[in-house]
Amino acid sequence: MTAAMELSSPEVMDVFARYVVPNYTRYPVCLVRGQGSEVWDAEGRRYLDFFPGWGCNLLGHCPPRVVQAVQEQVAQLIHVPNSWYIESQGAFAQALVERSFSSQAFFCNSGAEANEAAIKLARAHQAPRYKIIATQQSFHGRTFAAISATGQPKYQQGFGPLLPGFKHVPFGDLEAMEHQIDDETAAIMVEPIQGEGGVNLAPEGYLEGLRKLADDRGLLLILDEVQSGMGRTGRWFAYQHTDITPDIMTLAKSLAGGVTGGAMLARPEVAASLKPGMHAATFGGNPLTCRAGLATIETIDEGNLLERGTAIGERFRKFFLELSGTTSVIREVRGKGVMIGVDLAMPGAEIVQQLLERGLLANCTHDTVLRLLPALTIQDEQIDEGCSIIADVLRSAEG
Ligand SMILES: *Cc1c(COP(=O)(O)O)cnc(C)c1O
Repeated sequence: MTAAMELSSPEVMDVFARYVVPNYTRYPVCLVRGQGSEVWDAEGRRYLDFFPGWGCNLLGHCPPRVVQAVQEQVAQLIHVPNSWYIESQGAFAQALVERSFSSQAFFCNSGAEANEAAIKLARAHQAPRYKIIATQQSFHGRTFAAISATGQPKYQQGFGPLLPGFKHVPFGDLEAMEHQIDDETAAIMVEPIQGEGGVNLAPEGYLEGLRKLADDRGLLLILDEVQSGMGRTGRWFAYQHTDITPDIMTLAKSLAGGVTGGAMLARPEVAASLKPGMHAATFGGNPLTCRAGLATIETIDEGNLLERGTAIGERFRKFFLELSGTTSVIREVRGKGVMIGVDLAMPGAEIVQQLLERGLLANCTHDTVLRLLPALTIQDEQIDEGCSIIADVLRSAEG
């Protein structure tokens, strides 16, 4: 372990109050160390983590192969720009493409950036068509193109005027989508499973229907798999629960085992529309991220973690379904693999606060949805430990 930081949680909070932009609501806890599905704060308290890294730590905290790959790489080459070749970027692109669809990868640093790349590519490829139809309750990130694509006004308020050309239709409604298509439409953009919007699964046949609409009308189908991709749902990518493929797919969050990174994959004929000089990301595809990403893929392959993710999801699902029989607080249980949403009949923020007090980290999204994005490496005993805390807290919330 690296040298411990010296300050207590309240002392760190004082420094933040003076020097850090206050754009986040933070829990009054300073985390210092993590291992798998456990983290410790500056006071030495242990927490069980059902939401490691806001979905970025798909393998839990400090997965050994990722740690080792980064430690090796950081002493060899930290960063080289994209004016040179590096072996790990090619290998990482190949590994992603071999697990998805016939495509090529562009690397950047975040989900919003991956979506920026997708939107720019869609416009460049489809010019002069420029409109993109997205869905209500979607989330695509915080840059201007990404908030324009996002179908939730709360993320847009105060920042207008937005990028023109975006329309939003209800998620799951093929007719509404078809109705919005006109001669200027370039692409359809959706998350196969809406994450921030409340863990909303696409209804049966929806993605297939979008694929057909796109083919019939000459549109590109962009799938934002920033949250659902990389094994989160028990397949490498959530679209693989269907038999369609996208034209463009975006990735980030879990892409590199918790190390920052984003990627856009596009069919080669589409990717060819980005000519040298048209788009770039200085840090994109750097050696640390690519080594971490390769180590992430190896860890998932060797541990059969896609299957394990499905089993973990089943264990959670069984627990919540049983619990919902004994309390009226649970309205619906949704999810796939280790992407789990529990719609509550009450505000979820209070529940998350009480879970924190009991030593369990979780998340609330869309006001009432308790969201869990546990690691693929979580142990059954840890699942059971956390679930019994959830059961206690939900039962007492009802009373
Ligand atoms: C988190 C998220 C983003 C934004 O990713 P950042 O890395 O925060 O820019 C985009 N799309 C989806 C589906 C996400 O869940």
